[in-house]
Amino acid sequence: MAAVESVFDSQHFILGPEVEAFEKETAAYCQVKHSIGCGSGSDALLLALMALGVEPGDEVITVAFTFFATASAITRLGARPVFIDISPDDFNINPELIERAITPRTKAIMPVHLFGQCAEMDAMREIAERHNLPVIEDAAQAIGAEYHERRAGAMSEIGCFSFFPSKNLGGAGEGGLMTTNDDKLAEKLRLLRVHGMQPKYYHQIIGVNSRLDALQAAVLRVKLKYLDQWSDARRRNAERYEKLFAEAGIEEVITPITRPNRRHIFNQYTIRCSRRDELMSFLKQQSVGSEVYYPVPLHLQECFKYLDYEMGDLPATEQAARECLSLPIYPELTEEMQQYVVEKIAEIYREDRGK
Ligand SMILES: *Cc1c(COP(=O)(O)O)cnc(C)c1O
Repeated sequence: MAAVESVFDSQHFILGPEVEAFEKETAAYCQVKHSIGCGSGSDALLLALMALGVEPGDEVITVAFTFFATASAITRLGARPVFIDISPDDFNINPELIERAITPRTKAIMPVHLFGQCAEMDAMREIAERHNLPVIEDAAQAIGAEYHERRAGAMSEIGCFSFFPSKNLGGAGEGGLMTTNDDKLAEKLRLLRVHGMQPKYYHQIIGVNSRLDALQAAVLRVKLKYLDQWSDARRRNAERYEKLFAEAGIEEVITPITRPNRRHIFNQYTIRCSRRDELMSFLKQQSVGSEVYYPVPLHLQECFKYLDYEMGDLPATEQAARECLSLPIYPELTEEMQQYVVEKIAEIYREDRGK
């Protein structure tokens, strides 16, 4: 509240010193040269694609098992999302499928670090470099996640983050961030977020209005100090679930894996289970919140019908959409609460077997 009050005292509400300080701190945190605040994670993706010159008719390779904004950023520029399937064990882009999706129109590859675990970046970078393609990381769920000791957002041309309140680092409203090690891209991203305006009222390129506001930056600067301890607590909770599920021996539930050489930050703790929807409503009756990320994969969304995908095109994605359920994982969750969650899940499958 003190940080918020100081913003009101300054009356400097958009960009300004608070945002600049936040950009410096997040650049250090994400281990990148430049960090550029913007209006939301969705805008970060849009601005990243604009900075890389994505145009109508271009193709961008990405996944369909993600939040809508990953693909809509592509389509808003008149480009085509080329959806490829995920690896069933970590829900992230399957690197083995990338190369065959590349065409002369491919302009970029956009992996998502889903649920807080980094995608397989080395294999992807190798393909991208061979084909001279830039990579954009959708790191909206992965601030502080690591892959071989490199941070999310630091392993590609541009990393994109979101401060939507449900993310690991959540603001008191909307906010987003782009990271890059490239000076020219950084300059372009800074320009694009202010209508391409430099100096005032002289427009070099056509940009958008997508600025981080100082109130968000002030709140996020306070919270950033606690981020590692919160991420550690989420990881501890994930380990506890792992143990509790193993003890309960529920064969209908598959717990999430953490790949070797990853720092998973567990934005979500996502299990696979049979009869998911029934389990979800049962948990709701027992006062346990859970959520399905994501029930309809993007290639089957109504608004993307014109892309001509069908059920069956992305089997691992479609299976994940049927089986995934995310359980409470927030840092303050107690061991008793987790015991209760696992007990309730055991109960429904036990009843089932009794039938
Ligand atoms: C949250 C999220 C976004 C969008 O971020 P907003 O700040 O809500 O616009 C994009 N991609 C993924 C994977 C997300 O989880």
